[in-house]
Amino acid sequence: MKIIADLHVHSGFSRATSKDMNAATMAMWANKKGINLLGTGDFTHPVHFKNLQKTLKPAGNGLYTTPSEPSVFFMPTAEISSIYSQGGKVRRIHNIIMAPGLEVAEKINNTLGKRGNLSSDGRPILGTPAKDLLKIVMDISEDCLFVPAHAWTPWFSVFGSKSGFDSIEECFGEYAKYIYAIETGLSSDPEMNWRLSALDKITLLSNSDAHSPGKLGREANVFDCKMDYREIIDAIRKKDKTRFLYTLEFFPEEGKYHYDGHRLCNILFSPAESKRHNNICPVCKKPLTVGVMNRVDELADRQEGFVPPNALPCVHMAPLVEIISEAQVAGVNTVGVKREYEKLTGLYPELTILMDLPDAELFKIAGRRTAEGIIKVRAGDINIVPGYDGVYGEISIFSQKSAAAKKSDEKPSAVIRQQNLF
Ligand SMILES: [Zn+2]
Ligand SMILES: [Zn+2]
Repeated sequence: MKIIADLHVHSGFSRATSKDMNAATMAMWANKKGINLLGTGDFTHPVHFKNLQKTLKPAGNGLYTTPSEPSVFFMPTAEISSIYSQGGKVRRIHNIIMAPGLEVAEKINNTLGKRGNLSSDGRPILGTPAKDLLKIVMDISEDCLFVPAHAWTPWFSVFGSKSGFDSIEECFGEYAKYIYAIETGLSSDPEMNWRLSALDKITLLSNSDAHSPGKLGREANVFDCKMDYREIIDAIRKKDKTRFLYTLEFFPEEGKYHYDGHRLCNILFSPAESKRHNNICPVCKKPLTVGVMNRVDELADRQEGFVPPNALPCVHMAPLVEIISEAQVAGVNTVGVKREYEKLTGLYPELTILMDLPDAELFKIAGRRTAEGIIKVRAGDINIVPGYDGVYGEISIFSQKSAAAKKSDEKPSAVIRQQNLF
């Protein structure tokens, strides 16, 4: 069966998250989005874990469902922030743990609970190095999947420019063989990762990292296999193109750390501009926050555009609410935009509208400009002012001029993109 999976989300017990991020409400939103497999997020948090034990029913396939949405399955997942020093540098790495059941998750909780305070945050901070954390998880169950999260973000990731490493081996040592996948994160996409031959054997996952239900599925993984924990994990580990079809991607320019710069100094640089300034901010004279594009360029051993033979395809898209907002020339939180979003998602799941509906049906159900907007996004025929130093990029679908008028002229904008589904 076709499975659309979003395996990295957060509960209401993580910092800056919506209180609606509980299993029942997430399942309802998953239905609206067209997602049928969700991570539970934050299984390490004692209260969230208790709620999961109460709400989730085992489905007999290593996954769980809720009574109210039996077609949406859950996989126990959590994210740990490891902060430690190695090689004379402070390292801050986020990793996702996927577990084959709440019993295994509980064992992990019992072990990690001795190393730090798991109730302090849905995404707890431990002083345990990433490599030791991986060993702990594998000792409990080798059926778990351990995945470096948003692998390129500057501050909290395995390849991050500020506190990461230059390779998976440098981070995980002899345990690197247990790393089958990394999460590309919102600010990078598979095409960027294809530039590193070191990642050819690694499966690239895409998840929303959502902090509120409306953001679920903004990135996701599409499988064609049995709805079964082992089957899905096996498809990821083997990078099996017959079962793992493609990933759904944010345009990476929209991510918060695509380009370089300083938010407070209002400096947004492309990697080439940063190089001309020796990575120093011309306003405050301090080092720039080097974004994902630059960091990929630093570690890459291939030119842009290279496609490895075993690469999984990917499709870029933009959230429906942003397309409606562009079509109506109104903010994403305005009444008219929300009304149109509710109307459309009442007819079809959001991902079906964005990905699958024929043009004629789009024009039938949506306003002309919204339908045109979806078609333009599908073709990659859009303009984006790239995100930098924690600021999201801004997409403009209909007019490059009107978007440019809103922003200072120095800000570079990304070129029109091509989709990469093959
Ligand atoms: Zn994270
Ligand atoms: Zn500055």
